[in-house]
This record gives sequence, C-alpha cells and structure tokens, in this order.
Amino acid sequence: MSAIVAIVGRPNVGKSTFFNRLIQRREAIVDAVSGVTRDRHYGKSDWNGKEFSIIDTGGYVQGSDDVFEQEIDKQVELAIDEADAIIFMVDVESGITGMDEDVANLLRRVKKPVFLAVNKVDNAKRAEDAVEFYALGLGEYFTLSSVNGSGTGDLLDALVEVL
Ligand code: GDP
Ligand code: MG
Repeated sequence: MSAIVAIVGRPNVGKSTFFNRLIQRREAIVDAVSGVTRDRHYGKSDWNGKEFSIIDTGGYVQGSDDVFEQEIDKQVELAIDEADAIIFMVDVESGITGMDEDVANLLRRVKKPVFLAVNKVDNAKRAEDAVEFYALGLGEYFTLSSVNGSGTGDLLDALVEVL
C-alpha cells in the first residue's frame, strides 16, 4: 500500500488548488469563497518515482464559529490518525490567523512528519513576508505558489524523502 499524505489547514489557503496540481485532475472543488470543499477527496500522485495517496481535507460547513473550528480540529485529528505525513498549509496573503494557531497547536504534538507549506507565494516580495510563519513554532517552512507551481518541487522532494 502506498503512503498517505494529508493536506490540512483552515479554509481558503489553497489546499484544493495544490491537491489538484498534484493529481493533475480537477477533482476537488475550488472556489474563491471560504469553505467550499465539501468532502475529503482522495487522489493518487507520484514524485521522483514514489507513489502516494493524497487527502484533500475540507468539509467545512459555513455556520457558527464554534462548529467551524471544531470541524477543522476533527479533520486535523482524522488526518493525524490516517496519514503517514501531513502538509499543513497556510496563506501568506492573510498571514497567521487564530485558526492557523489552533491547527499548529494540534500538530506540534504529532510524531509524524509535518511540512509547513506557506502558499500563495507568487513572487519574491511574498517570500520575504513568509518569515512570520516561524512564529507558529513548527520550525522550517516551504514557500510555494499552488497557482503558478513555483516552490512545489522543493516541498515534494522533502515530502517523498520521508515516505
Ligand atoms: P482551500 O479552501 O484551502 O481548499 O482553498 P482553495 O484551493 O479552494 O483556494 C482558495 C482560493 O485561493 C482560490 O481563489 C484559489 O484560486 C486561491 N489560491 C490557491 N492557491 C493560490 C496561490 O498559490 N496563489 C494565489 N494568488 N491564490 C491562490
Ligand atoms: Mg478545498
């Protein structure tokens, strides 16, 4: 059985865009509106000759903030149980939010490999802005643009190393 990689993070950071890039099919639902991915989506991908399964987490239903945050926590906990490695995606456009901090707190206790992926780094200026994500206490991060593909290779190189 191939290794399982889960992409977690709050809504609208670009998880489904990255997932679609990995599986090379428009399977997950991407939308400009937060919380549009309705289900967990599973796909297959490979990099450097290594095949792995990838989970795009979502299923966030718009509602009270409480339900919203609980749902994210549930998805992260499911991912922690299920996955061999976790990609924690955040968004350089918005910077660190309270929800990012909540997810980071859950992930900091995990023994499995966690890759902090700072998405929407579409240009060099945004690469500089990404340093603020050290404050999440997860160590090194990868910068990438799921839209233009830059940086995705470095993240995948490091990811398949641990699978
Ligand atoms: P999800 O809720 O985390 O699955 O996020 P989506 O993949 O649905 O993306 C949310 C929004 O962010 C969409 O409008 C995407 O086009 C946009 N987006 C995703 N990746 C990037 C990126 O690398 N750069 C920019 N500028 N926008 C992005
Ligand atoms: Mg999504």
